[in-house]
Amino acid sequence: MNSKKNWHTHILTYLWIAIGVSSSVTLINMFFSSLDTKTFFLERFLLPFVLEVLILFILKWQIRSHAPAIRYYIVIGTQAIVTILFVVHSSIFYVMLALFLMPMLISVFFLSLKLIDFTFCLTLVVLIAMKLFFPPLSVMSVIELTTFAAILVSTYFLSRELTKRFSVVYTDMVVSVEKEKELLYRNIYMEKLTKMDLATNLYNHKTFHEYLEELVYQCKNQPFDLSLGLMDLDLFKGINDRQGHCNGDLVISTAATIILDNLEANDFAARYGGEEFAVIFTEKSPEACLSILEQIRIDLETAVFETMPDEVVTMSIGFVPFTPNMSKTDLFEAADASLYSAKEKGRNQIQCAS
Ligand code: GH3
Ligand code: MG
Ligand code: MG
Repeated sequence: MNSKKNWHTHILTYLWIAIGVSSSVTLINMFFSSLDTKTFFLERFLLPFVLEVLILFILKWQIRSHAPAIRYYIVIGTQAIVTILFVVHSSIFYVMLALFLMPMLISVFFLSLKLIDFTFCLTLVVLIAMKLFFPPLSVMSVIELTTFAAILVSTYFLSRELTKRFSVVYTDMVVSVEKEKELLYRNIYMEKLTKMDLATNLYNHKTFHEYLEELVYQCKNQPFDLSLGLMDLDLFKGINDRQGHCNGDLVISTAATIILDNLEANDFAARYGGEEFAVIFTEKSPEACLSILEQIRIDLETAVFETMPDEVVTMSIGFVPFTPNMSKTDLFEAADASLYSAKEKGRNQIQCAS
C-alpha cells in the first residue's frame, strides 16, 4: 500500500513539474506574443495555472484519503490538464496535439491493461468532442485527423505491450525472490539438521564434541571457568519395556526441555546419546553449575507424565570442572567416570570428580 502511495506521489510530482515548466514557458512567450500583455497574462497564464493547481490539489487530497479508484482519477486529472493547455494554446494546436499522448504514457505506470483501455477511450472521446465543438480544431483536415488518430492508436498498442512486458519482468522478479528466500530457509534448515538433534532441540553428538574441543583449546590459552556435566536417564530400558517406545521418546524430550529451561545464556546442552545428555558450563563457578544440575535432577524426578502418571523418572549426573592440565578426552572421561559412580551409588544423584 505504501509503495503504491509513493508511486502516486511520484506521478503527482511529475505533474507539478510539467505545470511549472509549461507555465514558465508561457510567461516567456508573453514577450513574443501579438496579444496585449494583460490579456495574455490573464487568459494564457493565470487562468490555466489556477485550474491546473486546483486539479493537482484535488488529486493530492484523493491520494491522501486512499481513494480506491485513484489511478483513474490521476488519468482523468492529467487529461483535464492536457485539455486546458490545449484550449488555452489553441493557436498553436498542431504542436500541442502531442500532449494528448501524455495520459496514456502516465497510465503505463500502473501496469493495468484495463486502465490503458480506459485512458485510450477517454482521450478519443475528448479529441472527437473537441473536433466537433471546439471551433479552432475545425480547420484540421481529415488527413491530419486520421494521421493523429493513427499515432494515438499506435501509442495505445505500445502502452499495452509495455505493460505486458513489465508485468512479465515483475512476475519473474517476484518468483526469483521467492526462490531465493526458499533456498535461504532450506540452507538454514540444513545447517540446523547438521548441528541439532531435532527431536529434542538440543545440539547433537558431533556439535557437542566440536564445541568442547574448541572450549578446551581456548581455556588452555586464556583460562576461564569451564565445567562439564554428563547425564544418563536411570533404568530407561525398563521405562521403554513397561510404557512402550513412544512414552520413552516423550521422557527423552521432556528431560531435554527441563534441561533447557534450567540453563542460562552461556550454557550449552547436547543430546550426545540416546538417553544421554551433556551440559557445558562456561563463566560459572562449580557451585553455580552444581546448583543448576541439582535443579534439573529434581525437576525430572518430580515431573508427572500424563500418559504414565505413576512413573517416576530420574537421572544420574557426573560433573567435573576443567583444570588446565586436562585434555578434552581427560575432561570427558572424568565426567563419564563420575556418572558411572553416580549409577553405582544408587542413581538419581550427582557425583562430582574430585
Ligand atoms: P542405567 O540406569 O544403567 O542407565 O539403565 P538404562 O536402562 O537406562 O541403561 P542404558 O542407559 O544403557 O539404556 C539405554 C536405553 O535407552 C537403550 C535403548 O533402548 C534406549 N534408547 C536409546 N535411545 C532411545 C530413543 O531415542 N528412544 C527410546 N524410546 N529409547 C531409547
Ligand atoms: Mg545410557
Ligand atoms: Mg540410562
